[in-house]
Amino acid sequence: MTKEDIYLPLLEEVTKYLKTKEHLDFIKSGFDYAFEMHAPQKRKSGEPYIVHPRDVAITLAKYQVDPNTLVSGLLHDVIEDTPATYADIKEKFNEEIADIVEGVTKLDMIHYKGSKASQQVKNHQKMVLAMAKDIRVIFVKLADRLNNMRTLGFLDDARQTRISRETLDIFAPIAHRLGMYRLKAELEDLSFKYIYPAEYQEIAGLLTDKKENRETDVENMKNDLNKLLDSENFIFDITGRIKNIHSVYYKMKHKDVDFEEINDLLALRIVVQTISDCYRAIGIVHSKFVPLPGRFKDYIAMPKPNMYQSLHTTVVNRGKIFEIQIRTEEMDEIAEKGVAAHWAYKETAPSKASSRKSLENIVSSKLRWYSELIQYTEENDSEEEILNIFTDDILNANVYVFTPNGDIIDLAAGATPLDFAFRIHTKVGEKTVGAIVNGKIRPLDYTLKTGDLVEIKTSKNSVGPNENWLKIAKTSNARSKIKNFLNKQRREFLIERGKEELDREITLKRVDIKITDDLVEESFKNRGIKTLEDLYFEIGKNVVSPIGAANLLTGKEELTDEDLLEKINKAELAKRRYVHSDINIIVEGLDKPSVRLANCCNPVLGDEIIGYVSRSSGIVVHRQTCNNVESFEEARLLDVFWGTNTLVKYVSNIKILGINRDNILAEIVHSATASKAKILQVSAQSNNVKEGIIKMRIQIGSLVELNHVISNIQKLKGIYSIERIG
Ligand code: MN
Repeated sequence: MTKEDIYLPLLEEVTKYLKTKEHLDFIKSGFDYAFEMHAPQKRKSGEPYIVHPRDVAITLAKYQVDPNTLVSGLLHDVIEDTPATYADIKEKFNEEIADIVEGVTKLDMIHYKGSKASQQVKNHQKMVLAMAKDIRVIFVKLADRLNNMRTLGFLDDARQTRISRETLDIFAPIAHRLGMYRLKAELEDLSFKYIYPAEYQEIAGLLTDKKENRETDVENMKNDLNKLLDSENFIFDITGRIKNIHSVYYKMKHKDVDFEEINDLLALRIVVQTISDCYRAIGIVHSKFVPLPGRFKDYIAMPKPNMYQSLHTTVVNRGKIFEIQIRTEEMDEIAEKGVAAHWAYKETAPSKASSRKSLENIVSSKLRWYSELIQYTEENDSEEEILNIFTDDILNANVYVFTPNGDIIDLAAGATPLDFAFRIHTKVGEKTVGAIVNGKIRPLDYTLKTGDLVEIKTSKNSVGPNENWLKIAKTSNARSKIKNFLNKQRREFLIERGKEELDREITLKRVDIKITDDLVEESFKNRGIKTLEDLYFEIGKNVVSPIGAANLLTGKEELTDEDLLEKINKAELAKRRYVHSDINIIVEGLDKPSVRLANCCNPVLGDEIIGYVSRSSGIVVHRQTCNNVESFEEARLLDVFWGTNTLVKYVSNIKILGINRDNILAEIVHSATASKAKILQVSAQSNNVKEGIIKMRIQIGSLVELNHVISNIQKLKGIYSIERIG
C-alpha cells in the first residue's frame, strides 16, 4: 500500500465538507507528519501504524469537525508513541492542536483498574477534567476508542476483555451524555461482543432468526403509514430502525423480559419537516392506530438532558406492537450525532466552530450539564470538588424538575429543594427560606420527584445555611457550597468576637497603641500568627487568651496621666458634639438633631446603617439592607455611624422555620436565653406541611450577640432557616 493509497479514503471523506486548498494542504501536512513519525511502526494486524490515525481522522471527518480537530486526530498518538513533543507540534502546527494532542495523551496515561465503582469514578473524573479544558479532547479520544474497538480482534483475550470493559464503563456513557447515539451504540455492541460472547451470539441469532418476519411486519406497517400520511399532504420519510444488540440485552436483563416481549423490536421512524408537522403526524397516527397507554412521550417539549428530541409512541396494528418515533431532520441529526451536530465546521463561516471558546459556548448552550460543568470549574478551585459534583450530581442525575421558567434541572436521586436552590445559584441557595413545589408549600427536606415544578422562596434577610442543611442537602454541589458558607461564617463570627475581646483588654490597659499586622507578626512569630485578623480569629476560638495577647502586644508601654487625660477629653468632646448616646448613633456635622432607630428594620450595633432625613421625625437610622431604603430619595440619605457606648440594648425580630416537633419551641427559647438574649415576645404557629414558624422579639447588645443567638438556635435539630424580619 503506498502512502497515497492510505491517504485517499481520508481525502474522500474530508472533501465532502472542506474544499479550500488551504484546508486540504493543512490536513495533508498533518497526515505527512504523522506518516513520517509513525513510519517504522506496525499495528498488531500487520498494517502500517498510520492506518490507525487515518481512520480516527475519517471518523472525525464524518462529524465534520474543524481542521484543527481533524489534524489532532491524525497526530493523536505521536507524543505518546514517537519522539515528537508538544513543542514540536506547537511549532509545526499550532498551539491548539498541541493542546488537544497533549490532552488525549494524558487520558491515555490513565490506567483502568477495573469496574469497581471507585475506580470508575476516578476514570470519569479524568475525562471530565479534560472535557472542561477542551471538549475536543474527548471527541478525538472517542474516535480513537471506536477505531481501537473495531480492530480489537487482533489483541489477546485478556486485553480484549479489559479494553471492552473500559469502553462499556467509561466511553459509552460519555458518548451517551454527549448525545452521540450512533457512536455510543457501536461502542456498546463491540464491547458487548468481547465481554459476553455467548450472549452476544444468542441475541444476534435471535435478531436474525425471525428477521424476515419482522421485516415483513415493518414493511406492512410502513405501507399503512405511508398511505395514511400521503392523504394528509405531508413531506416525510419513513424508515425501519435496527436496535443495537447491547440495548436488547440490557432490556432483557434489567426489565427481566424475554426477547419476544421487547416490543420496540418493531420500530419505525418518521422524519418530517417542522415541529408542528411532528404533532400533526402523531395526531394522525393515533387517530388510526390504538396507542398503548402510558407509552406516549413528548421529548420535543421536554428534551432529554443530552438534547435528544423526538415524539415516541407505541401503537398496535394487525395484532403487532410497533414503536414509532417522529421527529424533524434536525432532531434526527442531533439524535445520531449529538452535540457534534452543532459544531459541524463550515468553510463559509470559518470562525464559528473553530476556537475553543466559541465551541465551549455552542456546547454550553446545547448541553445544560456541560454549561454547569464549566460554571463549576469557574466557581471552584479544587479539582476534587468539581469532580465530585460532576460525577455525583450530573452523571448520576435521575430526577428532572422544572424551574418556574420551564427550564429543566437534573439532580441526583433524593435531591431536595435545597439542592435545587443551590443548583440555580449559590446566592439563591444561601438566601433560601422556603420551597413551593407544584404550587404547594413543602418543607426544605422534601424529596423531589421527576416533573415537579419547583419555586424557591428567598429572603435577603435570611441568615443563611446552617448545620442542619448539610443533612437536608443530598447533592455534592449544594453540600460543598453550604460547607463553604459555614466555614466562612464561622470565621467571620470568631474574628468579630476576638476583636471585641482584645479591644476590651487593650482599653483596660490604658495604652495608646496602634496594633499593626507587623506588630502582631513580630509578637506571635513563634505561634505562626501573621496578621491582626488571624490573631482575632485565634482569640475568638479561645486558642489565644485576650489578656495574654494584650500583654504581649502592649509590653510595658503604659500611658502617662497627661496623655490619658487628653485622650479622654478628646473623646468626651467628640461625644458632646456628635453622639446620641441613648441610641449610640453618631451623626457627623449636625448639632443635636433628633435621631431614632427605624422600626421597620431594627438596626443593632454592628449592622451597616444609613440615615434618612425624614420629613417630620428627624433622622431615622435604617439598616442598609432595609427594603425601604431602596425607595428613599438619594438626597435625603446621610452617613451615620455607631458610637462607642456598649451599654445600649437593641431590639431584633427573628423568624425561625423548622420541623414542627415536640419541644422545639422550648428548646429555641432556652437556647436564646442561654445565649444572653432577653426575650420580649414569642409567637408560634404551624403550616400545612408540619413546619413550625416561630417569631421572636429579643433584646441584645450587638450584632455579634445576635449572631451568637442565631448560631446557637441553628444548632438545634430540625431548624431549616432563620431570618431577621422587621
Ligand atoms: Mn490511538
